[in-house]
Amino acid sequence: MTNEMPRCPICNDSLSVRLAYGRKSGKPFVMPICARDGRHFRGFINHRPYVEEILEYLETHDKREFGR
Ligand SMILES: [Zn+2]
Repeated sequence: MTNEMPRCPICNDSLSVRLAYGRKSGKPFVMPICARDGRHFRGFINHRPYVEEILEYLETHDKREFGR
């Protein structure tokens, strides 16, 4: 799954995926972030099927690998 992540445009490291929650909506979204330095790149994915796929993955795997 994380193999499908794009790479950081600054350092070319693969991006790690975090789960974040909208401040107002409280809805989860996926945040790809540069594993080396968060200032390089940080994105937002709000595509529901993808977000739900990540949520499902978290329920069956160790949550710590996502940095929460
Ligand atoms: Zn980077």
